[in-house]
Formats: sequence, C-alpha cells, structure tokens
Amino acid sequence: MIDIEENLNIVIKNIEDACKRAGRNPKEVTLIAVSKTKPVELLEQVYHCNIREFGENYVQELTDKIEYMPKDIKWHMIGHLQRNKVKYIIDKVAMIHSVDSLRLAEEISKEAVKKNVVANILVEVNVGLEDSKFGVMVQEVENFIQDLSKLPSICIRGLMTSAPFVENPEDNRVLFKKLTQLCIDIKDKNIDNSTMDVLSMGMTNDYIVAIEEGATMVRVGTAIFGARNYNK
Ligand SMILES: *Cc1c(COP(=O)(O)O)cnc(C)c1O
Repeated sequence: MIDIEENLNIVIKNIEDACKRAGRNPKEVTLIAVSKTKPVELLEQVYHCNIREFGENYVQELTDKIEYMPKDIKWHMIGHLQRNKVKYIIDKVAMIHSVDSLRLAEEISKEAVKKNVVANILVEVNVGLEDSKFGVMVQEVENFIQDLSKLPSICIRGLMTSAPFVENPEDNRVLFKKLTQLCIDIKDKNIDNSTMDVLSMGMTNDYIVAIEEGATMVRVGTAIFGARNYNK
C-alpha cells in the first residue's frame, strides 16, 4: 500500500526546502500532481490533501477524470496533443503545456475563439542534448513565440521542458538554468499576448534542482502516486 499523504508531505517539504535554499517564496511554486494511468480513487486522496492542480497526458483519460472529479480542480494538459483532440479539452483545462508546432497552436487558437475562451499555453522546449521527439529547439523559441503572438485567443504564459532522465539530477541543472534565462530574455522582448511568467520544469527525479533554478510549476507523478504500470 502506498501512503499518498506521506508521499505528498515529503514532496511539499522538499519544495519548501528548495525554495529556502534558493531564497524563493514557496508560493511561487505550483505543485502539479501528475496522475496519468492512476485510478480516480488515488486522485481523490490527493485532492483531500488539498492539492487542486492535476496533470494528465492523454485526452480521453483527462476528459473522463474531469467529468468524475470535483469541479474546483485546475487541469493541466502536459502530454503531446494531437490537433484533432484539441476541441475536447480547450474549455476544460487551465493550461496546455505541450505546444511545439504552429499548426497545433493554430488549432488551439481556432477552438478557443469558437468556445470564447483564452487558452493559456506553454511552449515546450527541447533542452535535452539527445534527440527528443517533441519540443522546439532553444534557438527557435523566440521566433516561434513571435508567430504564436499573432494568433487570437491565446496567451503564451511561458516555457515547459522535460529534461532527460539522468542518474544524478545535478546533471540537469545546466539545462534548467538555460531555460530560465531563455524565459527572462523573451520576457524582456514584451511580445504581444505573452506574459512569460511560468516555467514548467522538474519531475520526480529532478524537481528539487529545477526549483533551485527557477521553476514555477513542477510536474510530479511517481513521488506522489508511486511507479506507473502501463501493462494493466
Ligand atoms: C509523466 C510525466 C511527468 C511526471 O513524471 P514523474 O517522473 O512520474 O514525476 C511529468 N511531465 C510529463 C510531461 C510527463 O509525461
């Protein structure tokens, strides 16, 4: 049996300690409980520990859980999003973290206009040194955001990245530093329809380092819910 409350207490304490070390206010850091593949009974336990932000990767699972769970939850779409699925989530999620193509952004914009909402989006950046399937390359991010800024009903809130899995999370520090600096540099340009106040980086393996380097949202799954089993 996993003890969700105990797990959460450890994560929250780690977040507070990392903030202290970095001279940051813990209120600047939002914990997103990443609940993909996990049953709603476990999400309810997390909810009862006062967590109100959840992250999911798959549209069908996300919409099922939105239907079932309390309405005061903020849902984050953190997984790769196909254009033909945008319409199912556009007015149901607080933020889409995984925007990495203009065609996807155009679809988000079109559906947001249709439903009369403003879509909060993050640009997914590929900071990893190895080939990753998803994410905009660092040197292309600013131009990409310039293009997105022309689309109606989209607010570009900041950047997101998934750093590679490494044995020693210290190895990712340089990548988090780079993303933080990139976000500051782009914010300085005051691009239309962008706020650049969100940095979504850090997962179970490296969220502590990510916070020390400026993360404002950490996406933590395994440390809260235990390991995922995709074979069930
Ligand atoms: C699954 C996932 C997470 C959570 O990963 P853990 O290592 O379980 O904390 C975070 N971000 C994204 C994009 C994910 O797909």
